[in-house]
Amino acid sequence: MRFDLITIFPEFFASILGHGVLRRAIAQGLVGVEVHDLRNFTHDRHRTVDDRPFGGGEGMVLKPEPLTEAVESLGVNEKGERDAGRERVVLLSAQGRRFTQGVARELAGLERLVLLCGRYEGVDERVHSLLCDEELSIGDYVLSGGELAAAIVVDATARLLPGVLGNEASSEYESFGLTPTLIARSGRSEWGTPSGGEDGPPLAVVGSGGLLDYPHYTRPAEFRGMAVPEVLTGGDHAAIRRWRREKALEKTWRNRPDLLEGAELSEADREYLRGLGWGG
Ligand code: SAM
Repeated sequence: MRFDLITIFPEFFASILGHGVLRRAIAQGLVGVEVHDLRNFTHDRHRTVDDRPFGGGEGMVLKPEPLTEAVESLGVNEKGERDAGRERVVLLSAQGRRFTQGVARELAGLERLVLLCGRYEGVDERVHSLLCDEELSIGDYVLSGGELAAAIVVDATARLLPGVLGNEASSEYESFGLTPTLIARSGRSEWGTPSGGEDGPPLAVVGSGGLLDYPHYTRPAEFRGMAVPEVLTGGDHAAIRRWRREKALEKTWRNRPDLLEGAELSEADREYLRGLGWGG
């Protein structure tokens, strides 16, 4: 998959593209990320990208001409002629559709994603109308620029691409992972059943089924007076799986009860949650 990022601060991305999973994915050619300096698409001596807002008011607005030229230079199809399942041009905006793990999965199916990073008071509205398929927001707060948001979209999307994570299935087993039904629909069948079968050792993966992840522990077994939960060192694989499921349920109930609505819950899950005070 190829990402194109259009920004007035191209250096911003050096750090996130140069570390960890993303750096490896780029080095392996699994992901391509091109960063384009918006000022290269200006034609005046001062390389002006912004101007005062019509109608008055505070701040400056990103002008439509450089952004339009930048997008047109990329060779993507014109809006209206794009195959929405293959390429998409997105404006990062606090007013956009909320970016979630589900949206990241949707974007991971594209061949090409162009991300426009706004600044100042925002972007001339005609940019959205003429060039963009949609606006995406990373949350209900206002950032100073779209770069941070674009970095989040690239990171969350790229790690879902085949081969990017060491264990191909692992993104399904994290917080917000696919539900068993969605995994079955995608042709996978091993949800919740580790490769060694029900009696085999639990991998780091027990399908999250739309829940938050369970707590993880590593060595030392005791740290500042706090011991690792006994069940994790006892070698009873079924008990470990049960404990992890219960902790994921507990954490989701405590921190994000809204997620329980969309999660696939067994009768045992429901029973456990009711014991915690859940009314569902
Ligand atoms: N006047 C705009 C408003 O009230 O919605 C805020 C503009 S903000 C200071 C500048 C740029 O940051 C935006 O054009 C957008 O690209 C980016 N931005 C700010 N908040 C964002 C968010 N929650 N998600 C994605 N991008 C955001």
